[in-house]
Amino acid sequence: MSAPTTLRAALAASPLPRLEAHLLWQRVLDVPRAWLIAHDADPLDPARVAAYQALEARRLAGEPIAYILGGREFFGRDFQVSPAVLIPRPDTELLVECGLRAIQAVRAPRVLDLGTGSGIVAVTLALERPDACVRATDLSAEALDVARKNARALGAQLWFSHGNWYDTELGSARFDLIVSNPPYIDAQDAHLGLGDLRFEPPGALTDGADGLQALRDIVQGAPDHLSPGGALCVEHGWDQAAAVRSLFLSRGFADVASERDLSGIERVTRGVLK
Ligand code: GLN
Repeated sequence: MSAPTTLRAALAASPLPRLEAHLLWQRVLDVPRAWLIAHDADPLDPARVAAYQALEARRLAGEPIAYILGGREFFGRDFQVSPAVLIPRPDTELLVECGLRAIQAVRAPRVLDLGTGSGIVAVTLALERPDACVRATDLSAEALDVARKNARALGAQLWFSHGNWYDTELGSARFDLIVSNPPYIDAQDAHLGLGDLRFEPPGALTDGADGLQALRDIVQGAPDHLSPGGALCVEHGWDQAAAVRSLFLSRGFADVASERDLSGIERVTRGVLK
């Protein structure tokens, strides 16, 4: 097949959904989406066509679009991502909103984000609450590098600790809010072998057990790191809300409730330490 000579021809020939093809063309030509539409009859440089075809081949082999582009939007900001971190999901905006509500009445809140990954939650909280002091931890040094880059690029001042959950340089620090989007997929879940998840770091997706182990560890340790009146907000799987609420209740949390995401699924659970 001869190489397409215009964008219109290239798009017509592409097996990718239009939006994905547009995103890849935007990257290759370094133009906004509107440009693609206005210039779809312009002649294309064959080198650009070849560059596009290389990206398209990666996408057709299943690689997530966010990893190919190296970024994903979250809460209205562009974050860098790499295969060292989970791809930001829109569902996780609910975790940020839950955290923001929990510290609404607290001046200069101290916030801890456990398992920060690309840093979307910690960086967003720090930018939405410039008076907050936000610490972000991760077991993966590579993930912390990505989170540091995002904090720098977006102008957020954060503190980082390397280690497993609370097992970092936290010392005796107490926080007004602990947030986490931990790995919560059951290790046996067939979805781990499908779609984008095949390319994401397994340690960010599954706890290697029943999907509740990381959540148990986080809820268990939280009271030792929260100030009186401090809140814990965690993201979890579609069928885990009742189990997570009972973890909170058995660890002495009050005002325990789950919140629904845009698909109507109980996705985040929160509680307050009285
Ligand atoms: N929300 C992700 C998914 O279901 C999983 C992320 C996680 O385990 N924290 O694909």
